[in-house]
Amino acid sequence: MTRYDVVIVGGGPAGASAALVCASRGLKTLVLEKRKIPRRKACSGILVPASLTLVKNNFGDLPDEVFARPKEVRALRVHFPGGRIADATIGGSMIWRDRFDQWLCRKTGAEILDGTTLEALRETADDVELQCRASDGRRLPIRCRVLIAADGGPSSVVRLLNPSLHKKLPWYVALQDSYECRCSLEPGRFHFFACPEISPYLSAYVKDSFLVMDVVVPFGKRAVEAMEKFRAFLWPRVGVEKAALSGRLGCRVTYAAPRGAFCFGTERVLVAGEASGLLNNFGEGISSALASGLLAGQSADRGLRGGVPPGRIYLQEIEMEKRKTLDTFDRRKILFGRGRALHFGGPGAPLSWRERILIGLDALRWLLALRKSG
Ligand SMILES: Cc1cc2nc3c(=O)[nH]c(=O)nc-3n(C[C@H](O)[C@H](O)[C@H](O)COP(=O)(O)OP(=O)(O)OC[C@H]3O[C@@H](n4cnc5c(N)ncnc54)[C@H](O)[C@@H]3O)c2cc1C
Repeated sequence: MTRYDVVIVGGGPAGASAALVCASRGLKTLVLEKRKIPRRKACSGILVPASLTLVKNNFGDLPDEVFARPKEVRALRVHFPGGRIADATIGGSMIWRDRFDQWLCRKTGAEILDGTTLEALRETADDVELQCRASDGRRLPIRCRVLIAADGGPSSVVRLLNPSLHKKLPWYVALQDSYECRCSLEPGRFHFFACPEISPYLSAYVKDSFLVMDVVVPFGKRAVEAMEKFRAFLWPRVGVEKAALSGRLGCRVTYAAPRGAFCFGTERVLVAGEASGLLNNFGEGISSALASGLLAGQSADRGLRGGVPPGRIYLQEIEMEKRKTLDTFDRRKILFGRGRALHFGGPGAPLSWRERILIGLDALRWLLALRKSG
């Protein structure tokens, strides 16, 4: 049985950040990723300023090939049913997740085992025993002193640690279609459509030569049907003709934060990224995945060197990140404060109080319609 200081499950931004810290501090580190890298992930790929800063400060400058065109995403544009439009400044960049995550993983310097799934774990006083399976069916027993679970929203580690938590959360299905086409949807903006009769979450944006559309529906409802309705709604408005579907991705997603249903793990199993519940109200999760991965790596290192359970250190360190996520669900802070991930305002100028109130009313109407449509 191979023994590591730290094993990280998941080769996304949380896993890569944890691996970067552990490997750079001389810990014997392994990243397990169930898919083959580069793996695709249903994600708009917007790096908000907080994500860009974390990447630059820890991984270095992103190479050009990671970015989509246009590179900059200036604003989130919300289209309300009454016709009012509100912009929230993003000031971020648009990347392709397969290329971004692969670049992050390569920069870690850790050993990477892709095509390998963690299936079971057992925590003892001194270490964690893992049962893993390679894509060819081989079983791989691995032992480590600390496990960092960065295995995304529907985390199997969290399900193993706390089965009831998973059951009580409301689950959604996100479906993402990419169409090779020309259209008049303004590039450089992330367009969100408040149409609850189609889906609680509808977005569309231009990325390279693709029109990308996302829908999210409650688990059990038909995401494909919602996508068809969204197409019928959007395409005539933005002049799409003869588009060819070039890719379809899906995943399960939940909002744990408003229910306080975070899971940061145990003494030797540290949970980071979306697996822990760190996904903000805008569906932005890369910044907290990067930040929590770094904190989990630092806590593992400090704990192993100081003889303190790493999970205890992590629980204290993660408090600020948890607070940031919770703040994005505070309606007063969204409408009247300065959000951490998104800053409402026109290009260069903050919104007037009158505009904020009108948008607040639009948002309220939308929320009521959302509740009515179930
Ligand atoms: C439609 C959509 C759009 C989004 N758009 C944005 C956006 O524009 N900007 C933003 O910041 N956030 C966005 N998000 C959220 C963002 O994608 C996630 O929050 C982010 O990817 C979380 O990173 P992570 O490292 O925690 O997990 P992930 O990126 O999900 O990585 C987890 C990895 O773990 C692997 N894994 C899972 N189980 C196992 C196992 N048992 N063994 C081995 N490996 C395993 C998975 O294959 C995966 O590669 C979006 C989400 C959705 C659904």
